[in-house]
Order: sequence, then C-alpha cells, then structure tokens
Amino acid sequence: MSDFDVLIIGGGAVGSAIARELSRYRLSIAVLEKNLDVCLETSGRNTGVVHGGFAYDIGSLKARFCCEGNRIMGDLSEELDFDFKRCGKVLVGNTEEEYESLLRTKKQGEINGSVGLVMVDRARLHELVPSVEGEFALYSPNSGIIDPFGYTIALAENAVKNGVRYFLDNEVVHIDYSAGIYTVTTKRGRFTSRWVVNAAGLGCKKISDMLGITGYRVIGSKDDYIILDSRLGKLVPMPIYTVPSNTYMGIHVSCTTDGNILLGPTAHDTDDLEFYGVEKSNVDALYESAMALWPHFTKADYIRTYSGILPKLIDENGKIQDFRIEIRDDIAPHAVNLIGIESPGLTSAVPIARYVIELMNEREKLSANESFNPIKKGIRPFRSLSPEEQREMIEENPDYGELICRCQKVSKAEILQAIHNPLGASTMVSIKYRTRSMMGRCQGGYCQMRISKLLEEELGLPEKDIVYEREGSYLFTGKVREV
Ligand SMILES: Cc1cc2nc3c(=O)[nH]c(=O)nc-3n(C[C@H](O)[C@H](O)[C@H](O)COP(=O)(O)OP(=O)(O)OC[C@H]3O[C@@H](n4cnc5c(N)ncnc54)[C@H](O)[C@@H]3O)c2cc1C
Repeated sequence: MSDFDVLIIGGGAVGSAIARELSRYRLSIAVLEKNLDVCLETSGRNTGVVHGGFAYDIGSLKARFCCEGNRIMGDLSEELDFDFKRCGKVLVGNTEEEYESLLRTKKQGEINGSVGLVMVDRARLHELVPSVEGEFALYSPNSGIIDPFGYTIALAENAVKNGVRYFLDNEVVHIDYSAGIYTVTTKRGRFTSRWVVNAAGLGCKKISDMLGITGYRVIGSKDDYIILDSRLGKLVPMPIYTVPSNTYMGIHVSCTTDGNILLGPTAHDTDDLEFYGVEKSNVDALYESAMALWPHFTKADYIRTYSGILPKLIDENGKIQDFRIEIRDDIAPHAVNLIGIESPGLTSAVPIARYVIELMNEREKLSANESFNPIKKGIRPFRSLSPEEQREMIEENPDYGELICRCQKVSKAEILQAIHNPLGASTMVSIKYRTRSMMGRCQGGYCQMRISKLLEEELGLPEKDIVYEREGSYLFTGKVREV
C-alpha cells in the first residue's frame, strides 16, 4: 500500500492544473512543492499573456495546447474566478521583410488553429492602439491577458477543495522505485505513491534524472522586465509585440489585468536557475528598445523590475525543442515526465494537464469523482465595489472598513481571507499575490509592517520568522533600538 495514488512534484501553474484536473477522478493525490507557496517560480514571473498559438511550429504540442488553452480560458476564469481579459494583441512591423515574416506567422497560426488573425494597416493599428509607433501589424483578437498569480492560486485552491493535499516547503531530493511503488524523499520526509508526475519547471531535469530518465539538455533563458505605474495603463489596451525571430519573441510593451505596464524582455541564456536579480545595463537596454516602439514613458514611471527564467529543452545543436511529455514504460513506469515547459506554459497548463491524464488513462482506467466541484470563489476586491456595496460590506464586517494597503485599497478583511486560504499563506508575497497589497506605487512602504503584524497575530508566527518570499528572506534580523 502506498500513501497516495499520485504524487505531483511542483506546484506551479502546470502542477496545480494537473492536480485540479486529476481531482476529477477517484484518486488520492498530493503535490510536493519546494517553496512556501505555489507561484514563487516561473508561474509567478512571466508576462501573463494568453497567447494565440501562432508563434509555434505547426504540429507541435506548444501550438496544440496553446490554441486549446486560449479557447478554454474564458470558461476557466468563470469557474475559478481569476482575472482574464480577451483584449487582443498586435505584432507591429515597419519593413517589407517584417511584413513578409508576419504573413508567414499568420499562415502558421491559421494552420495551428489560431482564430481571427488579420493583417492591419497603419490606420487600423492606430485605431486599436493609438499610442504605438509602427506601419502595420498582425492583429490577434483572441489573445488576452490573465492574472498569473490568481490563476495558479485558483487552480491549486480548487484542487485542495477537491481533496488534493499540498505539502509546501518539501523539496524532492531522491526517488526510488520498487515493486510498483515510488518512494519520494523530500527535505522533510518520505512519501510513497503508485504514480509520480514531474512538473518541476526549472527543476525538471533534476527530477527526470532522479527517475532514471537521463540525457536531457535543459537551459535557462532569463528575461528581465520593468514594471511601469498604472497611470499609463489606458495607453496600452492590449500587448504590443515586435516581430519575433526564431529564438527571441522580441521586445514587447504589455499590460496587466490590474492596469500596470510591463516593458521587456531582455533574453539571455543562464546556468543559474535561481538568480532573479536584474542588472542595470539590462534596464538601460530595455529603455532604449521600448522607447522605439512606445515612447510614452519616462524613468519616473518605473515602479520595479523583475525577471523570470524559462526552462528550454534543447537538442545537441542548441535548437529549442517542443514540450516533452512522456511516460517511459521501459525506465520509469507510471511516471509522467514533463520537460521544457517554457512559454506558452501558462496558456497551456490545463490542456497539458488533460494530456497527462490521457497518458495515464492509457495505462490505467481512471474512474470519475462524482463529487468534483469545478467552482472556486476568489477574494472579492473591496476597491472594485460601488460606494453602496462598500458600505454594506463594512456594516456586515467592520474589517472592510480598515484599509491596510492604501494605494491599492486593500482592506483588513481581504488580508485575513488571504492568510486563511485553503493552502495556507505565511509569506509576505503570498499575501501580495492574493490581494495586490504592496503592488502599488509605494511597493509596501505603508502596508508591509501592518501585514507582517497580521501574519504574526493570525498564525502565531514570531516576527523573526516572517519571510518575504523564500526560506531565509527574513523581514526582521534584529532590533535597531529598544522601546
Ligand atoms: C519571463 C517569462 C514570461 C512568460 N510569459 C508567458 C506568457 O505570457 N504566457 C504564457 O503562456 N507563458 C509564459 N511564460 C511561460 C510560463 O510562465 C511557464 O511555462 C509556466 O509558468 C510553467 O509552469 P510550471 O508549473 O511548469 O513551472 P513553475 O511555475 O516553475 O512551477 C514548478 C514548481 O516546481 C517546484 N519545484 C522545482 N523543483 C522541485 C523539487 N525538487 N521538489 C519540489 N518542488 C520543486 C518549483 O518550486 C515550482 O514551484 C513565461 C515565462 C517567463 C519566464
């Protein structure tokens, strides 16, 4: 007997989508996640664009899952209550060569199943995005944007609601297989299971090696971004991209569901899959290239920088490969191995999960969980309510009357709901991703201390143990004076 039927390694968007989709079946499922929350790696460090599916090779899994993910995103956002806008996207060009390249992209997209693609001239481009510089564009009306944190957290919390257990702070360090049972050792304990799913993102090669499936080459591609103040949000109604090359999607000016603007990315290969710092030279380079496309910001609009790292599977010549999703019956039976889940992994997460289940179903008939509930309600943002609704909420619960984050107008009631979410949230970033507190112009200058106090009170955490994001990222390292 094993502890679980399925152990999923990695609780990002893909691992959490697999957990949620698998909970539609009668299985005992657990997710082992090395971090203290579910979107502290790539799923929380991206652009949040729901891609149209035109940028990927014909016949690839990337094309297939991206188009499917795009198609179902509206229904998913209804069920799981995360922000999604089908706002469209433009790829802007200026030269004849770029025009030809966009025509090829359009053709590829149409074969892939991307819907509504159309070339637009300068006049139409400026109707769509008045502030952009460019002569023509490929317009994808079906592309969109999501809140990547809300999406990943909703997948995970809905999985929990349907019986999945999450073991956070459990980095997998070793896997054994014997007599049909996997024993997975983490830094905190041991778990046994009949199935293992490797959804470890940047850790996918390490887990694959632990399963005995060796030889993959996975490199990191690090992308740096600048976040601009939401003051400029109205000027970017949809993501504005340049013409992509085979290896680089090109600089883009994108918008978030909360109205901020993202400038990026730079792209360079890296072996260090844990370094998220952003170098000043990259910020300066981004300024120059973003100015050429969209010259409407100044450096005073910067509120923060961030970076993300894509796990790219490459062949022996360095060529980037398709997603690899496999069961190697000869080496690791009953282990689903996911390698190189880079972009468009966010858009594709649920179709990837359904494909994983297809592969499992070919080996073992899964039976439906009749009590599966696809609905998850998010935390209702106080700032989005009318004055009348706000008054009613405060009458019902006075904690709505106390604003903890002033620039994003986040109330104490929302912070408390975030702390007591079904997964548990003990870091500052966990609260930030669930409520938008600390995401405004002051970046937590006013609310950070108040949130840490609430974490202390609600979870009984000593202040010295409160971390910003990861293990060791302590907020308080000692007293500066006695009071
Ligand atoms: C800069 C950037 C921009 C992007 N933009 C887009 C976009 O606009 N649209 C889009 O569709 N896609 C985009 N992507 C891609 C997308 O973000 C990823 O493909 C997707 O988030 C991958 O999800 P994941 O769950 O596989 O990985 P992750 O989110 O990285 O999750 C993997 C999890 O596994 C855990 N883990 C790793 N090793 C271990 C271990 N040993 N034990 C336990 N847990 C472990 C990690 O802590 C992590 O939480 C972008 C990516 C980047 C970097």
